[in-house]
Amino acid sequence: MSELTLSATSSPRSSGRSAGAKGLRIVVLSGPSGTGKSTIVNRLAAQNEVKLVKAISATTRAPRNQERQGVDYYFLSKEEFLRRRDAQEFVECFEVHGSEKWYGTLKSEVQRAHDCGGWAMLEIDVQGAMQVVALYPEAVTIFIRTTSEVEFEQRLRARGTESEEVIQRRLQTARRELEMVDRYRYQVINDDLDRATSEIVQILKGVEGNSNA
Ligand code: ADP
Ligand code: 5GP
Repeated sequence: MSELTLSATSSPRSSGRSAGAKGLRIVVLSGPSGTGKSTIVNRLAAQNEVKLVKAISATTRAPRNQERQGVDYYFLSKEEFLRRRDAQEFVECFEVHGSEKWYGTLKSEVQRAHDCGGWAMLEIDVQGAMQVVALYPEAVTIFIRTTSEVEFEQRLRARGTESEEVIQRRLQTARRELEMVDRYRYQVINDDLDRATSEIVQILKGVEGNSNA
């Protein structure tokens, strides 16, 4: 399938022809917190139309609600995180949201996906995404957004997991992140979960088709 056949809400930014360095397949999902990235990733995993392995990020933030160690994140102390950073264990790591909380993608997670023969699915912020692209130019980058800021704010509040202060900080971060959307190869609008998920499947199948051709 050609990337040009994607629907109007998915905008290809460049050609994306191969599986990239050492055959690694990496897909990066970014977008403001609350736009539905985790929901989409879970749905993609459940549908299993393309083989995806979620790269579990490490973070120094505390678990929320039902989040589980080693499933949603590797929850690390700051000391442990910085030790692993200094040992070059991360593909990328940054302090996100100006919150003094660290987040990062472990090299071992990208390798685990490769060993399973699937795409490494990275759900990371824009700084991390740019770092991944610098290392792996063939990584497929997808920016998830809502149709409007109002919709986004409502969704963030509906989730009910953040304080007002955190919500305000995330809204500010979202405005900054939206300025980076043109650095992504694709953008997908998540106003309809089924459609957004199927657009991502089409994108990945398109890249797989091109690299197998
Ligand atoms: P993120 O991972 O980007 O921070 P979440 O996946 O946690 O966002 O989604 C934020 C909230 O929005 C959740 O309550 C989720 O159920 C809801 N949500 C996700 N996608 C949609 C959609 N297309 N329409 C309406 N609500 C959605
Ligand atoms: P949350 O705390 O809501 O789970 O995530 C907050 C932000 O951190 C989101 O924008 C998410 O994309 C980003 N994030 C999660 N994991 C990583 C990571 O491994 N690296 C980077 N750079 N950002 C991450």
